[in-house]
Amino acid sequence: MTGGAGDAYADLLAANDAYAASFALAGLEARAAKGLALVTCIDSRIEPLAAFGLVPGDAKILRNAGGRVTHDVVRSLAVATALLGVERVVVMHHSRCAMAGMAEPALRAGVLAGGAELPDGYDLLAMNDPTAALLEDVRRVRESPMVRPGVVVTGWRYDVDTGRVSVEVP
Ligand SMILES: [Zn+2]
Repeated sequence: MTGGAGDAYADLLAANDAYAASFALAGLEARAAKGLALVTCIDSRIEPLAAFGLVPGDAKILRNAGGRVTHDVVRSLAVATALLGVERVVVMHHSRCAMAGMAEPALRAGVLAGGAELPDGYDLLAMNDPTAALLEDVRRVRESPMVRPGVVVTGWRYDVDTGRVSVEVP
């Protein structure tokens, strides 16, 4: 079990006081102004807005470990494409991703070593073959009946050492 620890967040709450004092995004629309949804990894080296000249209000950003197209990403894309103005989807994996750097058993062992538990057979979605994984994720979006027809989907890879993307699945 884990629990809350109030002091652990003092820096964030102090920063929020300053942020709210000069808040400039009031009245922003919930629709994605640039019609974009970007599915990417939780990797803290990636700045999804800055990397593409985007600002708050422009895009839906969906993040998880690896930037994988999971059931919940499809759920979010179903809502975003039907109701929130999304017309184009980018699935963006990246170089030196922890999820691609080790096989599923090693990844599982790493999680368990920290004291966490995982159900038997639980798939953490390690990417033994990053190229195949990106292609599979793009296909999942393209073939999902939950995503509005007419939406375009592409697969990119972001280089965490140069900031440049390459189009891997046009
Ligand atoms: Zn990653």
